Amino acid sequence: MVAPKQLQREDARRWTSPSREDAKRRPNPAAIVRILRRTTAQYEIPLGTRMGLEKRSLFELLVSTVCSAQARDATTYPVIVKLFAIANTPEQLVRIPLVKFQQLLYPISYYNTKAKHLVALSRMLLTEFGGMVPGTMEELLRLPGVGRKTANLVLAEGFGKPAGITVDTHVHRISNRLGVIRSRSRAETERLLMAVLPKRLWAIWNPLLVMHGQNICAPISPKCSQCPLRNQCQRRGVTTSR
Ligand code: SF4
Repeated sequence: MVAPKQLQREDARRWTSPSREDAKRRPNPAAIVRILRRTTAQYEIPLGTRMGLEKRSLFELLVSTVCSAQARDATTYPVIVKLFAIANTPEQLVRIPLVKFQQLLYPISYYNTKAKHLVALSRMLLTEFGGMVPGTMEELLRLPGVGRKTANLVLAEGFGKPAGITVDTHVHRISNRLGVIRSRSRAETERLLMAVLPKRLWAIWNPLLVMHGQNICAPISPKCSQCPLRNQCQRRGVTTSR
């Protein structure tokens, strides 16, 4: 009988030294999605998806997405719930004095700048879009504080019509590790993913990889020995793992 410690060592060796066959294997995005749908069901869902499940308005989705940039969902969620109890329309939001609004957004990272952007964004919605959140990439990108990542998420989660793929740090890192693409920047990641993923997978790719990244495929020392994707993964760039 093989001792558990020996098994662990063998497993670790296998995953730190992928065979030539592993390296050649092409990961299948549809199979990855199928596996992750099952295995991530136990994890906390990302903020954008949560807004959709809670049937929040498009404005609430947009505001929460701007707030969550470079911030943890666990920090952002309680703050925006408190904010939406006070103001959940552009009209209400522009009436809050800026200093008070900045205090409301604390402790979300860059709360001062985000508050300024959200006030300017709400004003633009009122003056140029009749108080509604626009539904195209071009229009969304005109709003202060809205970049391609935020616009993609709003289009996918809010309008159900992804114009691209939402690429954050998890999507960039894991798509490369898996070997689905090989890219150096997030912009390139999005372009390449759009070329290799069928359109029906564009909206789901981000939330699944975010949950997988938060729980298994960590930036440093991913848990490869426990990973449900280990048979799909080329582990590109992974030098240490658990
Ligand atoms: S945890 Fe390891 S095996 Fe799993 S996706 Fe990340 S790098 Fe690949």
